[in-house]
Amino acid sequence: MVWSNLIKKGLSLRLLQPAVKRNFWSFPGKATFSSLASDVTLDRVDLRSAPLTTLSEDEEMMRDTVAKFAAEQILPLVSEMDRKGEMDKDLIQAMFDQGLMGVEIEAEYGGTNSTFFSSILVIEELAKVDPSIAVPCDIQNTLNNRLIRQHGTEEQKNLYLPMLATSTLSSFCLSEPEAGSDAFAMKTVAEQKGDYFLINGSKCWISNSAEAGLFLLFANASPEKGYRGISCFVVPRDTEGFDIGPKEDKLGIRASSTCTLNFDNVKIPAKNLLGELGQGYKYSIEVLNEGRIGIGAQMVGLAQGCFDHTLQYVRERKQFGQKIWDFQSMKHQIASVATQIEAARMLVYNAARRQEAGLSVVKQGAMAKFYASEVASITTSKCMEWMGGVGFTKAYPVEKYYRDAKIGAVYEGTSNIQLTTIAKCMDGEG
Ligand SMILES: Cc1cc2nc3c(=O)[nH]c(=O)nc-3n(C[C@H](O)[C@H](O)[C@H](O)COP(=O)(O)OP(=O)(O)OC[C@H]3O[C@@H](n4cnc5c(N)ncnc54)[C@H](O)[C@@H]3O)c2cc1C
Repeated sequence: MVWSNLIKKGLSLRLLQPAVKRNFWSFPGKATFSSLASDVTLDRVDLRSAPLTTLSEDEEMMRDTVAKFAAEQILPLVSEMDRKGEMDKDLIQAMFDQGLMGVEIEAEYGGTNSTFFSSILVIEELAKVDPSIAVPCDIQNTLNNRLIRQHGTEEQKNLYLPMLATSTLSSFCLSEPEAGSDAFAMKTVAEQKGDYFLINGSKCWISNSAEAGLFLLFANASPEKGYRGISCFVVPRDTEGFDIGPKEDKLGIRASSTCTLNFDNVKIPAKNLLGELGQGYKYSIEVLNEGRIGIGAQMVGLAQGCFDHTLQYVRERKQFGQKIWDFQSMKHQIASVATQIEAARMLVYNAARRQEAGLSVVKQGAMAKFYASEVASITTSKCMEWMGGVGFTKAYPVEKYYRDAKIGAVYEGTSNIQLTTIAKCMDGEG
């Protein structure tokens, strides 16, 4: 049953407020991000906590629904999408129809009206089957939908949220050829001219851009102010002067498109400015702090998917008259990796529950992304070894997971950048 049907039947995913409803993380008053931004407020949390893996009935149902969807509709297409480097268009629409692209968007805008934690579960489940298909879901839910919901005017929300929830893929456009880890060194400018902005410059590595209809673009409206001039704009695909380059031919997540964008005197109405002028750097930092939890979920799902395939193989394959699994040296290695996947999942879930509780996730999100990416690399590498020769071929999905895993340490901040963030937080903690 698709999520939208559940809503129509009154089993609304509005009920997906698991921990809060169950009082595991209840607050005496209404918690806001700013009021609960540090651990100082932890004493306000009801600590009768369930284990981190505890899911509400609704969350379990949602996870199982996504797993079924992934097995039935995504799995048959994975290998061909990877080979062609192309995402199946019907599949993208099916994800919208399932309510997977507007997980937190309120029902009044056509969304699923659920929680951040639910979107993390969705990303994890999709990535188990295909980490590429988890990319559009991750960017839409953890970055772009949140930016519009948090900073959009009522007019912008009414216009864009229904599109984002039901039909229109979007891109998050921050990186530039000379501004990667140092993202705020961007050169793209947005010159204000009365009731419009004139945009010039280029962006690179932009995910979803071959298929997206909306682009959330970061550009500097006052270069003399440095990063304090950076602002966020909504740019529709068909805008004159806006050109999308060819897709990058990538090692992994090949079905997820990645292109360069060029802006040549692109005229954007002033009403397409998102939030306040000069606040773009702040919006992007805040949303990326949370978005990293999504990448952590993608990497956990990827590792688990690869591990599950491999486990099945080693339990069947025999050498020296016994199953590969039955060699104690194999069992130890496999148990060690199983433990690391579980630890990565705990970091991701904890960060996601903290986000829902209104606590800071700067350190926890960076840890979750960093560690889950490491674990995904270790897992996929080990799985290839455990599969022997067939692991090195395209007859099994393990080599694809191995290629896909590498991106975890690169996008939404490289692993070095995550470690820098973690260390900065440690400095702040004294
Ligand atoms: C497939 C893919 C999809 C992407 N999707 C998007 C997207 O949708 N939107 C978007 O805006 N961007 C996207 N990106 C861009 C991505 O976020 C950047 O590639 C990433 O931030 C790294 O920037 P860079 O490639 O310029 O590497 P660089 O910044 O040049 O880094 C090169 C190396 O130097 C290290 N390094 C750099 N600075 C430091 C430092 N201060 N301390 C220690 N080490 C450092 C890095 O860790 C890295 O190992 C995507 C990238 C890829 C590959």
